[in-house]
Amino acid sequence: MKAFRWMGGLAAAIVLFGALAAASNAETSQDPRAAMMHKVELRGKSGRIKQDRYWHDALAAMTKLDRADFVPSDQRISAYRDTPLPIGFEQTISDPFVVAVMTSLLRIEKSDRILEIGTGSGYQAAVLAGLALDVRTVEIVEPLAQRASETLARLCFDNVTVRAGDGYDGWPDGAPYDAIIVTAGTPRIPQPLLDQLKPGGRMVIPVGKGFWDEQLFLVTKSRKNKVTQKSIGPVMFVDFTGKVRGQPQR
Ligand code: SAH
Repeated sequence: MKAFRWMGGLAAAIVLFGALAAASNAETSQDPRAAMMHKVELRGKSGRIKQDRYWHDALAAMTKLDRADFVPSDQRISAYRDTPLPIGFEQTISDPFVVAVMTSLLRIEKSDRILEIGTGSGYQAAVLAGLALDVRTVEIVEPLAQRASETLARLCFDNVTVRAGDGYDGWPDGAPYDAIIVTAGTPRIPQPLLDQLKPGGRMVIPVGKGFWDEQLFLVTKSRKNKVTQKSIGPVMFVDFTGKVRGQPQR
């Protein structure tokens, strides 16, 4: 049981993008926020993440945010560590490297409308909001949805809307979306999410049978509605709960 809780604390980490880059001198000389971003940059290089415009856009959007604003007060001391952190209700905020990778895979343009499933702390939504026109995000744990909504309002994000509910159904009112991001591990891709993706759209989603068997997938829909998926690498996310697992609606 203890091991399980420990693993839970580590959820949302990408494990196979190369070893964590060695600590640099910058880490000791820079302020902790800059040091965190420097580490993400180094991990991107050692993990052979494509150093394209979208990667740099993701890093720039993250640099503008203070991760400490999104974590519970008892976690603020750890806010600039490049690790997942507990945010209550057995959920986690992903590690910053994972946020950067997933964001860059979405290839976001300024005019894009985005759907996120798994609001959690609201950090990933805030990163997306810095790059896109509009972000809608759905969270199944109501108090988390409430808290993220308050956090985003306090930080004056006016292009993000949070809704409490099961993200299995997506958010039909705002569809179709240029990009969809799912931040919880699911046994299969929910059909409503595929349906709500625009032709030409991109989706990133962790899919697998369980915690130890999960891959991050980049799903693309061509202009002619042909869906293709590509595995990016092994990941560990908290579970996508609700309807996809036959669990009753809360
Ligand atoms: N993106 C978040 C990380 C979230 S962790 C951040 O930046 O902090 C994954 C989140 O997905 C958890 O908060 C969990 O409650 C939520 N989740 C799990 N299943 C869900 C579902 N069916 N619909 C919506 N949210 C879900």
